[in-house]
This record gives sequence, C-alpha cells and structure tokens, in this order.
Amino acid sequence: MDFGHTEDESGFRDRVRAELQSGDLAAELARLRDCGEPEPDERGVYRLLAERGLLGVDWPRAYGGQGRTAAHAAVAVEEMMRAGVPDTLFVNGIQTVGKLVLLAGTEEQKRRVLPRLAAGRSFAGVLYTEPGVGSDLSALTTRAVAVDGGYRIDGVKVFNLKSGLTDFGLCAARTSTEGSRYEGLTLFLVDMHAPGVLVERLDTMADEQFHRVELNAVRVSETDVVGGVGDGWAVLAEALPLERTGFDFALRAERWYEAGCRGLGPAGEDPGQEAATPWLADVGRHGAATAAARLLAWRCIGSADRGQLDELQTSTAKWYASEQAAAVARWAAARHGLDAPPDLVALLDSAYREAPGLTLSGGTSEMMLQTISGFLLAGESAAPASGEVG
Ligand SMILES: Cc1cc2nc3c(=O)[nH]c(=O)nc-3n(C[C@H](O)[C@H](O)[C@H](O)COP(=O)(O)OP(=O)(O)OC[C@H]3O[C@@H](n4cnc5c(N)ncnc54)[C@H](O)[C@@H]3O)c2cc1C
Repeated sequence: MDFGHTEDESGFRDRVRAELQSGDLAAELARLRDCGEPEPDERGVYRLLAERGLLGVDWPRAYGGQGRTAAHAAVAVEEMMRAGVPDTLFVNGIQTVGKLVLLAGTEEQKRRVLPRLAAGRSFAGVLYTEPGVGSDLSALTTRAVAVDGGYRIDGVKVFNLKSGLTDFGLCAARTSTEGSRYEGLTLFLVDMHAPGVLVERLDTMADEQFHRVELNAVRVSETDVVGGVGDGWAVLAEALPLERTGFDFALRAERWYEAGCRGLGPAGEDPGQEAATPWLADVGRHGAATAAARLLAWRCIGSADRGQLDELQTSTAKWYASEQAAAVARWAAARHGLDAPPDLVALLDSAYREAPGLTLSGGTSEMMLQTISGFLLAGESAAPASGEVG
C-alpha cells in the first residue's frame, strides 16, 4: 500500500490550507468558533467553501464539482476539519446524499440537485431511521403511496441531524409490502419545506441535536424517486461503501489526541515524568491507533480512486476509526480532568459527550463487525448478504 501523496495532491493541500487560513473564510470560521453556541448555523461557512471549490471536489464539473480525484476530496476534508469546519452538513449532504444521487440518480436529478449542493445554496440530510427502526432498515414503516404523477408519503423519522437547516432529505419509504422485507423499499428526495413536513428538535447530550421529522401526506413527484421504485435496498447497499470511509472519525481521533497530549514535556525534561508514566504508555498506544485509523481511511480513498472500494474495507475503517475516536475522547478528557487548560475545556467536554454516538451513527460497531466477519468467513472476494444499511 502506498500512502504517499503525489506532488499535485500536496500542492492542492497547501492551497486548501492557505484558503482556510485567509480572508472572509478564516474570519467566518473564527466567528463560529467564538460565538459560544454549541450548534451554530454553519451554512455561511459552506457558501464560502463552495466559492473556493471545496465542496464536491471529486464530482464531475457538469454537476458543479471540480472533477478531481477521491484523494483530492479527502485532502480537502482533512484540511477543512483541521481548520474547524463543522462537518455534519458535509458528511450528510455532500458525502451521503450527493454521492448517492451521483451513483443512482437520473440525469435530471443530478443537474437539479448536485450543483446547488456544491454551491452551498442547498443542504441535504438523511431520513432513514424511525422510532424502533435503526440497524435493520428493512423493518421501516414509512409508506409512500402512488397518487397522480407521484407519491404521498406518511411516516415518522428520528435521530436526523441538521434537519432544521436542510432543504431536502433523502427519505427511505416502503412502496410495496409484496415479496421479502428487502423488496418494496424506495428512496425519495423530499422537499423539507413542503406542506406536511414537520421538524422538531430532539434533545441529546451531544452538541448537535437530533430531529424528529414527521411526514404527513407529503407529496413528491415521480422525478423524486432515486434509483427506481422498489430498488431502495439495493441502492443503499451499493452506496454504503462510498460513505463509510471512516475519515470523519479518524479526524476526530486526531484532533482529540492532540488535545490529550497537550502539556506533555519532552522525555527526560518533565519533573513529574515518573508519575506520568501510565499516561505516556497511553500516549503511545493512542498515537499508534489514531495513525492506524487514518491509514485505514486513506486505504479506502486509494481503493475508491481505483474503483475497487468494497464493504470489507469500509466497514473495517468505520469500525476501527469510530471506536478509536470514542476511546481517545474518553482518554483525553480523563487525562486532563478538572485541570484542563481553559481553551481545551469546551473541546474535551464536547468530545466526551459526542463519543457514545460515534459507534452508532453510520452503522453501529456490532453491525460493522457482523459485515467484516461475514466477508472473512465467506473469503474476501465473496460479499455476504448484508442485512443492515442504517
Ligand atoms: C450521531 C448520530 C447521528 C445520526 N444521524 C442520523 C441521520 O442524520 N439520519 C438518520 O436517519 N439516522 C441517523 N442516526 C441514527 C442511526 O442511523 C441509528 O442510530 C443506527 O442505525 C442504529 O439504530 P438504533 O439507534 O435504532 O439502534 P438499534 O439498531 O436498535 O441497535 C441497538 C444496539 O443493538 C445492536 N444490534 C442491533 N442489531 C443487531 C444485530 N443484528 N446483531 C448484533 N447487535 C445488534 C446495535 O449494534 C446497537 O448496539 C444517527 C445516529 C447517531 C448516533
């Protein structure tokens, strides 16, 4: 495996870093960081990122992208997160919804949706989970019934992030009860401002709040079906490897590891070193594991650029990176405890509260391990039937 960057990628990294540290973008990032709100409206930052071509980096130019590689896109994500760009609108809108539309959408959908996302003029979210329906989406109960020229959707979605800021949601609904439970699922682009869409905040212990989205006789047109009526399960199974590279988790681990290491003197110069020895062992262990999480994520990016990304690689990366991010958040908070430097208090507090959700969102650790073991038992070349898409 070669994890080195090409000259072009290194140059691109320098350019992205410079963009993030200058002008109105740097000022807007500073404003977000200093505003004191746990979940500020970050859409302004996204518009500035879009002006610099940093959203949809690896999307075709015809759809508002920059036509670059997955490696360039990953470089941009690394630099954006390191500069403090809140990433949920990016992960849900660009990486999940945008990539799924690229993969399975019609030409009309790609031209309608993608340029607006890449320009930071529209924002998208994911409407999959329902009360009592998470890991096993085949049990979902939201119904989409055919009506003149389209569908009427009724149901309740929960645990959706950023729904108060999004313009449309990618919604999984049942269009038929015939056949097995994996048949009859369909994906729709739902206008979040349409009559019948009710968004309510659900409090959580993390900074980012969940939402409950009620869909009451919401009308969508036939042109809002993504990937074919009844094909939802197959489309989601194909799209998952694109979204689970573990990158966002590896970058969290990196940020929190750096915070955890703050204040460690160079070896031999720290008068309290003897007492700190247990911490030093953790520094080495978490440093190695955090680097490994990043390498697993980069392995997925390399495979994506060669068109060889598979669910074994992505499930491994997602499982390892999310478990490591959660572990390092707890370690960093415990290491500093009540003596944390003032500028780290908010970061460590927020990381500690975010940690439990990391191994649930985007597919739980248990489901990732199930997928990995299925692949390993079947032999790496044979993909097992996955029973989970949440
Ligand atoms: C931070 C965060 C952001 C999220 N954002 C969104 C979003 O934007 N949109 C959206 O639709 N949803 C979102 N979700 C919901 C997420 O997709 C679900 O939490 C996830 O799919 C798990 O579903 P669940 O919470 O119902 O847990 P369950 O599926 O009920 O699982 C509960 C526990 O049982 C385990 N388990 C379940 N089935 C099995 C099995 N077969 N074998 C072994 N163990 C099993 C799970 O691993 C887990 O530990 C988000 C969740 C989090 C935490």
